[in-house]
Amino acid sequence: MAGSSEQCPHGMGSPEWCSLCKNAEKPSVYITGGGMAYHATPNCNALAEGQALVANPEPVVTVALGSAAVEGRKPCKTCEPPV
Ligand SMILES: [Zn+2]
Ligand SMILES: [Zn+2]
Repeated sequence: MAGSSEQCPHGMGSPEWCSLCKNAEKPSVYITGGGMAYHATPNCNALAEGQALVANPEPVVTVALGSAAVEGRKPCKTCEPPV
């Protein structure tokens, strides 16, 4: 850790104000349009099973944990993504 006087490399001042920096610290998780959970891996069995239940599954999307797309979703119990 570089301490509290750390400067954002994107020119936003403090990294706390920069969405790029914020999300850089967050692990990537995987979601689908129709799903209620988020996953640690796009190869999750539960994700694949959920996709198999719908006629036209939406593609898996990679998002940063903490982004709006993850809000309201629960961590998958199968692949156990970070909370
Ligand atoms: Zn930044
Ligand atoms: Zn999963």
